[in-house]
Amino acid sequence: MKTTLYSVYPEKLELARNQMSATQPFGAFIMPAPDGDETTTVMAGDDKLSYIVIDDIETTVDQGYSNFSKVTIDGRDVAKELAGIWRSHGIFLPEKPGQPSFEEIQAAKTLLNTFFNEEYSRGDASFSRNRNPAFISDQARVAARALNRKPDWATSDAQVTRNCPHCDELIRVKANVCKHCGRDAKVAEVPEPKPSPQRAAAGAR
Ligand SMILES: [Zn+2]
Repeated sequence: MKTTLYSVYPEKLELARNQMSATQPFGAFIMPAPDGDETTTVMAGDDKLSYIVIDDIETTVDQGYSNFSKVTIDGRDVAKELAGIWRSHGIFLPEKPGQPSFEEIQAAKTLLNTFFNEEYSRGDASFSRNRNPAFISDQARVAARALNRKPDWATSDAQVTRNCPHCDELIRVKANVCKHCGRDAKVAEVPEPKPSPQRAAAGAR
């Protein structure tokens, strides 16, 4: 069944599939940005939502020994799966066909806001570890824009310096060689701290 998947995400988003999913043979879906026309967006009250229509997918499954069988995957199942994977990014599927309810839109916005706050904090934490905007993720930059914040790490022309580990003179964050002493000053990213053993065990189910 043709199914419409909605988004409150403020930019274009590639909805990649879960590696283990039933729809795995099919390419990623591109959710457009909400600045498009009525072919990709819809007004719902004060909210402009972008959407994609997912149709049934006809495919052939190779069962081995030259045995191929035709399979139809319901568009609604694909949409459901994507809404599950991308829930935190403000992607959602209304319970009833047709335009989503006010409550459904608010719920999607709340989840997206939580996600953006987490990404923003991650960007901030990475910057305090590394003092290097090169290690900031795209998601953290999108989050900074969406939250209307302008930290040093999110501005493209961030002029951030650090001290050379050998001579202590000020050099650019991305410098591989110190311009003062000429020695190797390349930095590796400081990784995120590992989760506690309890959390790791819970995630390893
Ligand atoms: Zn130096």
